[in-house]
Amino acid sequence: MAEPDEHGRFGQFGGRFIPETLVPACAELEEAFRVAWADPGFRGELDRLLIDYAGRPSALTDCRNLSEQLGFRVLLKREDLNHTGSHKINNVLGQTLLARRMGKTRIVAETGAGQHGVATATAAAYFGLDCVVYMGEVDIARQALNVYRMNLLGAEVRSAVSGSRTLKDAVNEAMRDWVATVEDTYYCLGSVMGPHPYPWMVREFHRVIGDEALRQCRELLDGDVPDVVVACVGGGSNAAGLFSGFVDTRAELVGAEPAGGAAVGRAVPGVVHGSMSYLMQDEFGQVQEAQSISAGLDYPGVGPEHAHLADIGRARYESVTDAEVLAAFELLARSEGIIPALEPAHGLAWMVRAREELAGKTVLLNLSGRGDKDVAQVQAITEGDPAALETVDLDRMPGDPL
Ligand SMILES: *Cc1c(COP(=O)(O)O)cnc(C)c1O
Repeated sequence: MAEPDEHGRFGQFGGRFIPETLVPACAELEEAFRVAWADPGFRGELDRLLIDYAGRPSALTDCRNLSEQLGFRVLLKREDLNHTGSHKINNVLGQTLLARRMGKTRIVAETGAGQHGVATATAAAYFGLDCVVYMGEVDIARQALNVYRMNLLGAEVRSAVSGSRTLKDAVNEAMRDWVATVEDTYYCLGSVMGPHPYPWMVREFHRVIGDEALRQCRELLDGDVPDVVVACVGGGSNAAGLFSGFVDTRAELVGAEPAGGAAVGRAVPGVVHGSMSYLMQDEFGQVQEAQSISAGLDYPGVGPEHAHLADIGRARYESVTDAEVLAAFELLARSEGIIPALEPAHGLAWMVRAREELAGKTVLLNLSGRGDKDVAQVQAITEGDPAALETVDLDRMPGDPL
């Protein structure tokens, strides 16, 4: 996974579809990142933060019980063990370090369920930067605990009241803020999406996942690599980070999308939030709402590099239902004593479904986050609380046997 071309494109995807006023800001950011990423001083400082603040390197776990049950060897890359509980800290530490280097004193970010907002607020607190997080009004109501966490960390949470009042509206608001305040403000985007250089830069900040995992797998497998490498795909950042370590090996790459947000699965190109990619849209080209049991995958688009990897056939993307995800969530808890976040449970759900195809192989799954944040939701669903079922939105997924 190389640098995009001079237009910021991966094949026909990516680029910069933005208002004129944002062009200089994106150009400034691209230049600053390019220089920083080539600077051993910057790289060394980030590496040190990843070690002594975020807790890297994350473990590689060889799952004996689960492997026996499924009939193939399961390895987990344990991003759930990072500070703040997921892979997201890799990206926000990189971006806030860059913001400080650029002399910015204020960070804006978007958040859906609140995970990226909490991670950004964490890094902003650490570096002593002002932080404003945009969040859809609907999400603020659904994720009160994460709103409180962000406030506790010193961030201001602003409500996005336009459109469907969810993640895509929060991105729009954050971009609007950035246009007006670009002198002193840095926009910390949460996944491998948005205008160039974000998809490239965010993937580079997550490359550490793939680099570590490749090294750990070679050690464990006597120099070999796994046959299949799996990650869940919302915007696609944890998958991009993991895949970057294996794209030049013989490993097959598989991304797992929610059935209600299968942007790559539907393969309809379009422009959203500043770049060209695959995106869920209706017959008039209007962006559709994604629907998923896991808020972190509830995004109608996908990073442009994933669209490209699908297009050239280097990676494949499979979708799984909410019911399969819940079963996988329980399976990992029972078999290995690890409660996963609902997002990576999508990857495991695909592995369970594909177990005949995977028989006898070695499969690496990116366990992108821990499940503490999801336990109450799963409890409510499995105990039949009708209010919790509403967040799954059965109307939109007829036939889903929850
Ligand atoms: C946010 C999140 C995701 C989805 O984001 P990507 O950019 O697709 O990686 C996946 N897993 C966890 C645990 C998350 O918090």
